[in-house]
Amino acid sequence: MGLVWKSARGGTVGLGAATLFSALLPLAVAYVGKRIIDAVVEKNDAATLRWVVLELAVVAVLALNTRILALVRTIIGARLGVDINLEILEKAQNLELSHFEDPEFYDQLTRARREASSRPLSVVTGVFQIVQYALTLVGYGGLLLNISGVAVVGLVLAALPATYAEMRFSTSAFRMRSFRAPETRRLAYIEFLLGSEGNAKEMMTFGLGPTFLGRYRDLAETIYREDRALAIRRAGWGFVLSLLALGVFYGFYAFVAREASRTVITIGNLTLYVVAFRQGQQAFQSLLSTLGGMFEDNLYMSNLFAYLAIPTREPAKVEEGAEVAAHAEPGIVFEDVGFRYPGKDEWALRHVNLRIRKGERLALVGENGSGKTTFIKLLTRLYDPTEGRIVLDGLPLAAYDAKALRKRIGVIFQDFVRYQLSLSENVGVGSVEHLDDRPRVESALERGGADELPKTLKGGLDASLGRWFNREGAELSGGQWQRVALSRAFMREDADILVLDEPTSALDAEAEQAIFERFQELSKGKTTLLISHRFPTVRTADRIIVLSKGEIVEEGSHEELLKKDGRYRHLFQLQAKGYL
Ligand code: ADP
Repeated sequence: MGLVWKSARGGTVGLGAATLFSALLPLAVAYVGKRIIDAVVEKNDAATLRWVVLELAVVAVLALNTRILALVRTIIGARLGVDINLEILEKAQNLELSHFEDPEFYDQLTRARREASSRPLSVVTGVFQIVQYALTLVGYGGLLLNISGVAVVGLVLAALPATYAEMRFSTSAFRMRSFRAPETRRLAYIEFLLGSEGNAKEMMTFGLGPTFLGRYRDLAETIYREDRALAIRRAGWGFVLSLLALGVFYGFYAFVAREASRTVITIGNLTLYVVAFRQGQQAFQSLLSTLGGMFEDNLYMSNLFAYLAIPTREPAKVEEGAEVAAHAEPGIVFEDVGFRYPGKDEWALRHVNLRIRKGERLALVGENGSGKTTFIKLLTRLYDPTEGRIVLDGLPLAAYDAKALRKRIGVIFQDFVRYQLSLSENVGVGSVEHLDDRPRVESALERGGADELPKTLKGGLDASLGRWFNREGAELSGGQWQRVALSRAFMREDADILVLDEPTSALDAEAEQAIFERFQELSKGKTTLLISHRFPTVRTADRIIVLSKGEIVEEGSHEELLKKDGRYRHLFQLQAKGYL
C-alpha cells in the first residue's frame, strides 16, 4: 500500500472511489429489476417504463464506472512499474561487486525485477476489491436475511472449500517458481548464448547450436510439464468445488421458486432473491479468491522487500587518527593484506605488504590466477580486505568516501565495457562529468593512441559503436576497442592513481609498447600500476612486483630481478625464447 500511495496518490483515491461505486451500483440494478417485474405484474404501464429507463441510467453509470476503474488501474500500474523498477535499479547502485558475483543474489534480483512492477498494484487492487465485494455482500446478505437466515449461512459455507484450495495452489505455484529460479536463469543464459551477436561466431564455428538447443528443450519441457500438472490439478479441484456452490444455489432457487408459486413472495422478490443469492455467492467467492491472490502477491512481494532490504555498506566512518593524515607520507600502503572471496576457503591474496610511493610506476606480473586483478579490486575498494588494511595518504581506504576515493583512481580492467554508444560517449564515460566535453574527449583519444579512429569512422566522434541499436554501427577490432578503453582512462585528468589491468593484450607488441611509453610520459607525477604479460612493457616500470599464488614472491627493478635468478627471470626467459 505504501509503495502505491507513494507513486500515485490521486490515482489511489480515484481507485478507492470507483471501487466503492462498483460495489453499490449492482445492488441498485438488482433493486430496480425487482421494481420492473413488480410493475409488470401489477400491469402498471407508466411505472414499468419509468423503472426501465432508470435501470438504463444506472447501468450506463455502471459501465462508465467500469471503464474509469480500468483506466485508473492501468495508469497506476504503469506509474508503479516505472517507480519500482527505478527503485530496484537504484538499490543496485548501492550494492557491492560481491553481490553481483553471487548467483543467489542474482536470482533474487531477477525475481524482484520480474514480478515487482505488477504485484504491488495487484495487492492494492485486491484490497479495494475486497472492500467492494464485502460491501456488495453485506447488501445482498441484508436482502436475503428477509427471506432466510439459513440461505445466508449456506452462501458463505459453500464458498469456503474452493477458496482454501485456491490458496493451497497459490502457495504451490509460488514455491515452484521460486524453487525454479536457477533453471529459469539457465534458460535465459542459453537464450543469450544462442541469440546474441557476441556469441554467434563461436556457436557457428563450433556447431554448438543443436547442443544448447537440446539443453534448452529439456529444461523448458520439464518446466512445461510441471506447470501443466499444476494447472490441471488446479482446474480439477476448482471444478469439483464449484459444483458444491452450484448445488447450494439451486437448492436455494428451488426454495424461493416454491415460495413464489405459493404466492408467499412476489415475482419481483423472486427475481431479486435469485439475483441476490447468485451475485452474493459470486461476490463471496471473488472475495475469497482475491484474498488468495493477495496471499500469492504477498509471497512475491516478499522477494522484492528481501531484495530492497539487502544491507549495503555503511557510509564511511572516519577512523580515529584520521587527522594525522595531513602529516603522513603520501602514497599507498598495504599492511599485511589478505583476501578471500566470499564463500571461498582459499586465499586469493595473503600477507601482502607493500609501500607504493606517490608518483611511483609499478608493474604487477604473475601467472594467471596469481591475484593481480584481486589486488586491484582491493585497491579500488570494490572489495574490502579480509585481513590487514590498505592505507592511502595516511588514511585507511575504509575511511574514505567511496565516491571521492574512486574519483582519484582511474582504472581500466581487462574486461572493460564495450558500450553500445557513440565513440565520443565511449571515451567520455571515463569521466561522466565531462561526457559532452568534446575537446577533452579529443585529447583523451589522442593520448590513448586512438586519434585516427574518428577519421576512419563514418560520423567521426558521433559514430555509433556496436550494432545493437544502430544497423550502421561500427564494429571495432579488439585492438581498436582497447585504444578506446585507454582513452577512457585519460579522461580522468584529475585522477592521481592510474591502473591498467592488461587492457592492451589485443594490440601488437609494438603498438602496446608505443602506447605505454606515451602512457608513462603522460602520467608523470601520477602513481601508475600496470598489469601486462609483455616484458618490454613491464621493464619500463620503476618497480616490478611478482605475485604467485596470492603472495608477493619478488620485487625490484627489471635489472635487479633479472640478477636474482628467480621467478621473474624464469618468466622473462620463457618469453624471450618465444614461449610466452
Ligand atoms: P589474475 O588477475 O592474476 O589472473 P585473479 O586476481 O583474477 O588473478 O584471481 C586470483 C584468484 O581468485 C584465483 O584463484 C581466482 O580463481 C579467484 N577469483 C577471482 N575472482 C573471483 C570471484 N569473483 N569469486 C571467487 N574467486 C575468484
